[in-house]
Amino acid sequence: MSDFAVTIDGEFLDSNFFDDDSWNDFKKNYEIGKIKMLCCDANAIPKTSMRFTRFFAHQNGECATAPETVWHKTAKKFIINQLSKKGITAVEEKIGPDWIADIYFESDDKKYAIEIQRSPQTLQTYLERQEKYNNSGVEAIWLLKHPRYKTVTKAIYHYILKNDYNNKFPSGGIMPSIKSLPVFYIDEVDFRIKGVGKFDHSVPNFISALVENKMIFDRWWKLTDTGEVNNLTNYAPI
Ligand SMILES: [Zn+2]
Repeated sequence: MSDFAVTIDGEFLDSNFFDDDSWNDFKKNYEIGKIKMLCCDANAIPKTSMRFTRFFAHQNGECATAPETVWHKTAKKFIINQLSKKGITAVEEKIGPDWIADIYFESDDKKYAIEIQRSPQTLQTYLERQEKYNNSGVEAIWLLKHPRYKTVTKAIYHYILKNDYNNKFPSGGIMPSIKSLPVFYIDEVDFRIKGVGKFDHSVPNFISALVENKMIFDRWWKLTDTGEVNNLTNYAPI
């Protein structure tokens, strides 16, 4: 079962974006074979659990796809779909001079690579790969599985402690985040993009902020002005 599915026309479906009425309508009117699971392309059936949770199930029982692959495919499709909603065409497995990007796209004369990283690699490797992207004029963003993220933030912590503080623990503490490596994780359950400093944004907001140059490094990575944090700015006094 999954929160997500895709139509044969390539439209991404997120069961969380429905309400009870629209979900019931959808369940009555969809056609079997026209909605597919992201993990394995099997026919998807929209269902409601006994606890009223909306989800997509495989038409024929369980899925044989490994959870890591499901995470990778879902994250990738979620992001590519969001880019296409903004009129941006993403290329999968784009080959550069010394890199292959999971997702590559261009927007406003800027080049971006998004790496959906599920296998472990050392901080040194992240930084080397990042440099290769930089040398090609590509801004690379890393979206990791949570266990990978935990490991790399620990390494970043020690990297900062060594390079900035000569291994003497600073009284103000350390935020394990560096400007040379924009790295986050994609939550396996809600597929929100999270990181240090309570970074927690939906894929749509993350992608919008990225292409609108609203992702900044100020001691750690953050999005500015997404409307997600503070709705009071939308309040117009009468
Ligand atoms: Zn499947």
